[in-house]
Amino acid sequence: MASTTETPTGLSSTEAMALEARFGAHNYHPLPVVLTRGEGVFLWDPEGRRYFDFLSAYSAVNQGHCHPKIVATMVDQAGRLALTSRAFYNDALGLFEKHITELFGYDKVLPMNAGAEGVETALKLARRWGYRVKGIPDNEAKVVVCEGNFHGRTITVISASSDPDSYAGFGPHTPGFVKIPYDDLAALEAALDDPAVCAFLVEPIQGEAGVMVPRDGYLKGVRELCTRSRVLFVADEVQTGLARTGRMLACDHEDVRPDVLILGKALSGGMYPVSAVLADDDIMLTINPGEHGSTFGGNPLAARVAVAALEVLREESLADNAERMGAIFRSELQAIDHPMIDLVRGKGLLNAVVVRPKDGKTAWDVCVKLKDSGLLAKPTHDHIIRFAPPLVITEAQVREGIEIIKQSFATFS
Ligand code: PLP
Repeated sequence: MASTTETPTGLSSTEAMALEARFGAHNYHPLPVVLTRGEGVFLWDPEGRRYFDFLSAYSAVNQGHCHPKIVATMVDQAGRLALTSRAFYNDALGLFEKHITELFGYDKVLPMNAGAEGVETALKLARRWGYRVKGIPDNEAKVVVCEGNFHGRTITVISASSDPDSYAGFGPHTPGFVKIPYDDLAALEAALDDPAVCAFLVEPIQGEAGVMVPRDGYLKGVRELCTRSRVLFVADEVQTGLARTGRMLACDHEDVRPDVLILGKALSGGMYPVSAVLADDDIMLTINPGEHGSTFGGNPLAARVAVAALEVLREESLADNAERMGAIFRSELQAIDHPMIDLVRGKGLLNAVVVRPKDGKTAWDVCVKLKDSGLLAKPTHDHIIRFAPPLVITEAQVREGIEIIKQSFATFS
């Protein structure tokens, strides 16, 4: 066993896990590994063991752990000014707003914190636009969503979910959602026939559902149908955005521009919760002062960190790297001949393996074995393992990761 590293808390892995089990809510079931330090694609536990991170905090750490430029920006701004609230102006927010709207080509941005708040914001904007611009009668607006979606955990957002783990036992739910199958343009066309529909909210690739990649042409079809029916195309790129799939946005693969774009996660490089909703004036200016906001949204620390995080993506060509490394990763993964590997799918560095259980062993057991071999990944929906390393990963590291995955599966023969 490796020697114990010096950690700020001094806790061993066993002690840290026992504290969480005793005093923390049991709303998560983590892999039994405790992490104390991260750098690039690597994480370390208190005992000094090193792991490849193939989850990237659900794609929040696209720029790699503790990216030096983002850390320096964060430390600098934390020592100057962290929070003013939007009761006053600050000298960082406007620069972030200019940067992100120019980068993605929208008139305006509305900054929030968690991804779910970004989704809530987009839903409010869509309804408001529906009433004020489209002329939907008051309180009748509907939003079309897809089965298998994951947009977050608030009451309204889980009301749009088709996953009982998300919504069951938390009712009454927010009305106004119409659920249709994912990757089904005929179903969308039928749903959009209703003049009370203000928006179609969709993930360009369904991440939490297990990296469900729609057929080529789906997003183009969505764009056309939404335009034709005068319905807002709202893209939730909280997980797929910011270079993860090999383009800055997953929508870029089909050259489509959503009317409302939701970003989060990697918008801070994992440093801090920063989300944002982008839209043009006809949508964004339907919300007036005092009608929406957040104490922390748009604070100077978030604003500076977000600009640094976006700059890193471009300075280090991380979309290109995700595209190249993803292609190598997928083809190497597909070449592994093992009865538990049912299917490999993904785009860029957002990939998944569908695991066929064998002798009572499941995706969870594979992930525990991977962890014991020095690579961290987490099952989703019991039978799928998502592989999404930081986008700074090198080819040699991809190949090392593949070797660990290959050898770990081989122990289940
Ligand atoms: N939207 C998508 C597509 C997500 O994948 C997630 C989180 O996984 C969210 C929204 C919610 O983000 P957060 O957990 O920051 O609220």
